[in-house]
Amino acid sequence: MQTMKAVRYLGPKQDFVLRAVAIPEPGPGQARVRIAACGMCHTELHLRDGLLDLGPRDFTVGHEIAGVIDAVGPGVPESRIGERVLVYYYEGCQDCRYCREGAEQLCPRPAAQPGFSSDGGYAEYIAVRASNCVKLPAHVGLIEAAPLGCAGSTAVHAGKMASIRPGEWVVVQGVGGVGAALLQYALAAGAQTIAIDINPERLALAKTLGANCTINAADAGESSDAAAEVEAITQGGADVVFEVVGAGPSMQAAVRMLRRRGRLVLIGYTAARLEVHPIELIVKEAVVMGSVGSTLQDLHEVVALAAQGKLRAMVDATLTLDHFADGLAMLEERRINGRAVLVMEG
Ligand SMILES: [Zn+2]
Ligand SMILES: [Zn+2]
Repeated sequence: MQTMKAVRYLGPKQDFVLRAVAIPEPGPGQARVRIAACGMCHTELHLRDGLLDLGPRDFTVGHEIAGVIDAVGPGVPESRIGERVLVYYYEGCQDCRYCREGAEQLCPRPAAQPGFSSDGGYAEYIAVRASNCVKLPAHVGLIEAAPLGCAGSTAVHAGKMASIRPGEWVVVQGVGGVGAALLQYALAAGAQTIAIDINPERLALAKTLGANCTINAADAGESSDAAAEVEAITQGGADVVFEVVGAGPSMQAAVRMLRRRGRLVLIGYTAARLEVHPIELIVKEAVVMGSVGSTLQDLHEVVALAAQGKLRAMVDATLTLDHFADGLAMLEERRINGRAVLVMEG
């Protein structure tokens, strides 16, 4: 049996472990991808801390997977071997109403969810549904592409959910991997943007991406909070707020900074609850919506945007698989501006 290195989730509130596991063989309809790079997402921290627990134990984490197809199973053309791909990480049942509508991220009975409940990308190889392998253009590098698999596609999906119109004011709270992609998406949609974070380096990054204004929420005191600043800048509040932080104070500020008929899109979460009095939503006719992951179609659009140079993943650090724990620590302490990416050797 040939083996490879993989980072395994054993259960909530347990540290991940690096182990030797069997190199997977592609089954019917599957391709095996030799992984070149895998982005590190807050989801891994949520799994480790027990905030997210889909049930299964003992699988490889990681879902921002880019690599090269090196073997195919029955039913998949051999011509795909050698293809450089980005992996869509929901494998829906393909039978329920959500799958039929192309919203596999909502499938209640997914066949697999690499990195969430089945083997993912903190490893050297993965076997996945071949139709989930989205071909990358030659000029998009595999390391740069990896974070587009979740950070980029989550942002594009959330952006589409919000139906941004040109000229609207869009606030992005939390300029990490998803937030940086959201800013680019909103700007490409013709919006005016405000980036909010507590890290000056991230706000500087937001400026270079083209944000019209930045607000450091750590500087905003009790009397003059981020919501009041947004109100002043926009003269009435934001049309759209993307909440990528998910902390109690940031979510409450997000509700307050909404314009009448504004849309709040919840993407990030922590252990904090969303606490809001209904009157705050009623008088504004506010819309609050959640956005989870992306569709396969979204990922195709992400790759097209990246090919045109309209969407770039911000890769802040690269680490080898052996150093995954260092990357998670950087992510946890919010020392990453953009994304950290694991790069496989060999
Ligand atoms: Zn993710
Ligand atoms: Zn389904």
